[in-house]
Amino acid sequence: MRKSASRPRTTGSNMKFKNDSFKKNRGGYSRWLFLSCEKCKEPLFIYQKDGPGILKRLYIDRISSEIACEDLNCKKCGILLGVPIVYKKEGRPAIRLFPGSVEKKIIQESQMKNILP
Ligand SMILES: [Zn+2]
Repeated sequence: MRKSASRPRTTGSNMKFKNDSFKKNRGGYSRWLFLSCEKCKEPLFIYQKDGPGILKRLYIDRISSEIACEDLNCKKCGILLGVPIVYKKEGRPAIRLFPGSVEKKIIQESQMKNILP
């Protein structure tokens, strides 16, 4: 098997919700959110949102693409969308989003392959 080092291969067909204690601690249910840059509408990635509440931070392990835990910039317009943090309660790397920096849309699993590049 050859490893492809380029794009992360996260197509809709093989994406499944992660079920772990983080999810359980948030009520045990999840949704998929399609995130894009609020300013220029550039698609960013798909995110597994666990539990209720607004999206304040993105946990790295819930992001569909492999991203580094560093400043999150829009690839297209370059705007800074969030900064890396560690969510202390769980010792979990995350990106703290700036309010209003990303656009969120709830999507179904069947829609994913049409969205991701
Ligand atoms: Zn942008």
